[in-house]
Amino acid sequence: MFNSSLQQLAAALHSKKISSIELTQLFLDRIAALNPKLNAYITVNPELSLAQARAADVRIAAGKAVALTGIPIAQKDIFCAQGWRTTCGSKMLHNFIAPYDAHVISQFNQAGAINLGKTNMDEFAMGSSNETSYFGPVKNPWDDSKVPGGSSGGTAAAVAARLCAAATGTDTGGSIRQPAALCGISGLKPTYGVVSRYGMIAFASSLDQAGPMARSAEDLALLLNVMAGYDERDSTSLPRATEDYARDLGKSLAGLRIGLPKEFFAQGLSNEVAQAVEAAIAEYKKLGATVVDISLPNSRLSIPVYYVLAPAEASSNLSRFDGVRYGYRAPEYGNLADMYEKSRAQGFGAEVKRRIMIGTYVLSHGYYDAYYLQAQKIRQLIAQDFVEAFQHCDVIMGPTTPTTAFNLGEKGDDPVQMYLSDIYTIAVNLAGLPGMSIPAGFGSNNMPIGLQIIGNYFDEAHMLNVAHQYQQVTDWHSQVPQGI
Ligand code: GLN
Repeated sequence: MFNSSLQQLAAALHSKKISSIELTQLFLDRIAALNPKLNAYITVNPELSLAQARAADVRIAAGKAVALTGIPIAQKDIFCAQGWRTTCGSKMLHNFIAPYDAHVISQFNQAGAINLGKTNMDEFAMGSSNETSYFGPVKNPWDDSKVPGGSSGGTAAAVAARLCAAATGTDTGGSIRQPAALCGISGLKPTYGVVSRYGMIAFASSLDQAGPMARSAEDLALLLNVMAGYDERDSTSLPRATEDYARDLGKSLAGLRIGLPKEFFAQGLSNEVAQAVEAAIAEYKKLGATVVDISLPNSRLSIPVYYVLAPAEASSNLSRFDGVRYGYRAPEYGNLADMYEKSRAQGFGAEVKRRIMIGTYVLSHGYYDAYYLQAQKIRQLIAQDFVEAFQHCDVIMGPTTPTTAFNLGEKGDDPVQMYLSDIYTIAVNLAGLPGMSIPAGFGSNNMPIGLQIIGNYFDEAHMLNVAHQYQQVTDWHSQVPQGI
């Protein structure tokens, strides 16, 4: 049962083969057994989950169920969920109980889905390995000496180890796609503005976007149907008509033009990842696609641009954590300024402090023009490259990450090496485009490899079918780690 698709789970619930209470308990038991090793969840609260399951069973019995009613979904611990501890992976919020629901959470609640628990993540979503979490690193279920990726590493590990039916993540520079790739699951970052950021703890607001992480593209479509939608409480939420993201599943890919950016296949890409991506492209050709060579000349600047803009926005967003209204407060301090200082010094981890310092530096008078303004200009050039590329192709494909999962501790002392994990994903956030990662093979050490698919603005339904057709003819996405 824990290996079933969302549709299969819904069918089992509707036909009363299993109740939501039983299904929720099944996943809670798996979490109790496997989480001590994987550390994928920061918080489980069986009482809250089972109360939702009880209500879902009543709703199903009354014939009022919709697609995800009664299905246990894990939530990245960046989403405020009323009554739930919501930590964002930080000591700063280690005992914060959210007083309200994020838009994403209320959408799942309205659908009657079960909040199964809050998944581990890099502190304030800053990281690519889940090692910056105050609650300790997450282990990759395929090999517990490896990282699961980050920042949605807890979610990726929970989906890969079948510790939930599906889950949510957020992606500011790659945090859905990179961990999805490293853990062998599917993940989608929607077009910026498609999913409301209300109640999602802010990192870099012009880049942050929530999205689904699951076993298959088909499951992602069902999740996005629940998550997407206009919300007036987020000023960048887009007022668009409701879409059925599953509507294209099943269409033929004949005539699909796949753009291959030469910059994504250059130095730095490991052979085994390159080979897996090439094999996937060959599979797409069999499905009727053609290949076009394209160039994204400014994408090489995406990491430096991101590490000016994201810290700048973070330094502003994180100034709300001052120890006064909520969150961690230092136990001993002198005056008010001392309380701010000590609370932040003790409450934030090293990577978060590094970003706050970079951010305040690039925004300071005298450096603003040299760094922040330049970065904004290059951001436009990066976005323009994609506009040009999509004149010649329908989707862009390439690797999600340069290598498979690296060892825990391997890049901890070298932030720049860590930042390079997102070399293929960050440009998509800077441009606000939708991107996804799907499993496309394994490396020599038996670690998963991800294929990245980048679409044009609002092309999610089409991209999901592009991924789905590949998953109809391959079975990488249904492989599970040993012992799971
Ligand atoms: N790894 C990138 C960072 O550390 C991206 C993180 C994210 O997408 N949340 O900023």
